[in-house]
Amino acid sequence: MTLNIAIIGAGPAGYYTAEAALKQWGGTARIDIIDRLPTPYGLIRAGVAPDHQSIKAVTKRYEATNLGQGVRFVGNVMVGRDVSVAELLGIYDAVVLSVGAPEDKPIGIPGDDLPGVLGSAAFVGWYNGHPDYARLDVPLSHHGAAIIGNGNVAIDCARILAKTIPELETSDIAQHAVDALRQSAIRDIHIVGRRGPHQASFTTKEAGELGHLERAHPIVRPEDLPPLDADAALEPGHRKMVTHLRSFAGTERGDKPVTINFEFFRRPVAVEGNGRAERLIVETTRLENGAAVGTGELHAIPCGLIIACIGYRTSALPGVAFDDRLGRFPGDEQGRIMPGLYASGWARRGPSGTIGTNRPDGFSVVEAMVADGLVTKGGDAPAALDALLAGRGARATGFGDWQRLDAAEIARARPGAPREKLVSVAEMLGLIG
Ligand code: NAP
Repeated sequence: MTLNIAIIGAGPAGYYTAEAALKQWGGTARIDIIDRLPTPYGLIRAGVAPDHQSIKAVTKRYEATNLGQGVRFVGNVMVGRDVSVAELLGIYDAVVLSVGAPEDKPIGIPGDDLPGVLGSAAFVGWYNGHPDYARLDVPLSHHGAAIIGNGNVAIDCARILAKTIPELETSDIAQHAVDALRQSAIRDIHIVGRRGPHQASFTTKEAGELGHLERAHPIVRPEDLPPLDADAALEPGHRKMVTHLRSFAGTERGDKPVTINFEFFRRPVAVEGNGRAERLIVETTRLENGAAVGTGELHAIPCGLIIACIGYRTSALPGVAFDDRLGRFPGDEQGRIMPGLYASGWARRGPSGTIGTNRPDGFSVVEAMVADGLVTKGGDAPAALDALLAGRGARATGFGDWQRLDAAEIARARPGAPREKLVSVAEMLGLIG
C-alpha cells in the first residue's frame, strides 16, 4: 500500500528528504512538499548570496526530485494557518518539518529595537527579494555600517554593501536593492567579532573574496592577529582562511573609497542614537578558555545601519513541542519528534553547515521512518489535503505554476542577470492566473 509523506518546507532540507524518500520507496510513495510561498527552494532562493550563482545550480537537482513519480510541490500553503500539523498527521503517514530557521536570534542589548538595527534574515531577505522583506526600510544614508558576527552571513552582508552596482547587476539581487544601493552613502563597513581571527567561522573562499572587490579594501588590525606560529595548530582549511585575514593587515588602501574593517575582540553592548541607530557601542574583549570576556574598555562605532548576523531560530508551530532555549524542535539525532512526526535540516540541528550538510539529514530521517516500521493508514493523502484546502478557500499552487513564474522571472531579467525575482505573492498569484 502507498505511503503518504508530507514534507513542510521546500528548501534544501525538504528536497533532500524528498530525494531520500524517493530513493527508498521509488514511485510507490506519495510525497507532498508544502511551502508557504508559491516559489520553491527556500534558502537557495532567499538566503544564498545573489552573487554566488554557482551554489544555486543545486536547484536543478531539486527540480529533478520534484519531477519524480509521486512528488508534488504544494505552494502558497502555510502550515499553522491554512492547515495544522495535527491535521496533516491525520492525513499523512509521516510529516517532516523541514522549515529551516527563518527568525533572527535577538542581540539582546539596550537600543537594539531602534530603527536602523536589522537582523540578517531581514537584510538578506531584502536584497534577495523575499516577499516578507521586499519593503524593508534599510537606512543607507550614513557613512558607517556595523555588521555583528564573524560567520559567512556577516561576510555576505558586508560584500553586498561594499560592491559596486556593476558588480551586483549581473547577479539576481532584487531590483529594489540595486536601486537603494546605488544611492548608498556607506563607506566604512565594520565586521564586529566578539572573539579573534582564529575563532572566526568564515570559510576560506568567503574571506578571500573580500580581497578582490573593485572599490572596497579589507583591513585587519595587526595587533588582533595571533603570533604566526599559532596557526600551525589550526585545521588546514581554517589556517588558509586565517592566512587571508593576515593578508588584510597593514596593506595599502590605495584609492579604494570603501573600507571593510574587521573589529575583532569587540562585543556589542549597546546601540545609541536619537530616535534611530547612530552608533554601536562595543566593549574590548579578551579570550578566557576560548570565551570572550569584557575588559570594560568601550568604543563607539558610528553607523546608521546595524545588521546582526549572529544566528537564527526556527519558528515554533502550534501543537508541536519546541525547545525555546535552542530555538528549534526537540528530537533525537535522526529527527524523531513524536510518532509520525520528524524534523530535518536546520529545524532539527540548528543553523550550521553548508547546503550539502542537509543531504545526510534527509537520508537519516528516512532511515528513521524505515526503522520505525512506518505503515500506511491507506487513502490518498494528496487528494485529502486538496479537499481540505479547497474547503477553506486556500489557494495552493503547484510545480507547473512555479515553472511559469520561473520562466517569467528569467524573461524579465536585467541584461547579464540570471533572473529578476517577483517579490510579492500577490504579483506571483496574478501571474499564475
Ligand atoms: P555562524 O557561522 O554560526 O556565525 C555566527 C557568528 O555570530 C559567530 O561569529 C558568533 O560568535 C557570533 N555571535 C553569536 N551570538 C553573538 C552575540 N550575542 N554577540 C556577538 N556575536 C555573536 O552563523 P552564520 O554566519 O549565520 O551562518 C550560518 C551557517 O550558514 C553557517 O554554517 C555558515 O557557514 C553557513 N553559510 C555559508 C555560506 C557560504 O558557504 N557561502 C554563506 C552564508 C552562510 P561566536 O563564535 O563567538 O559564538
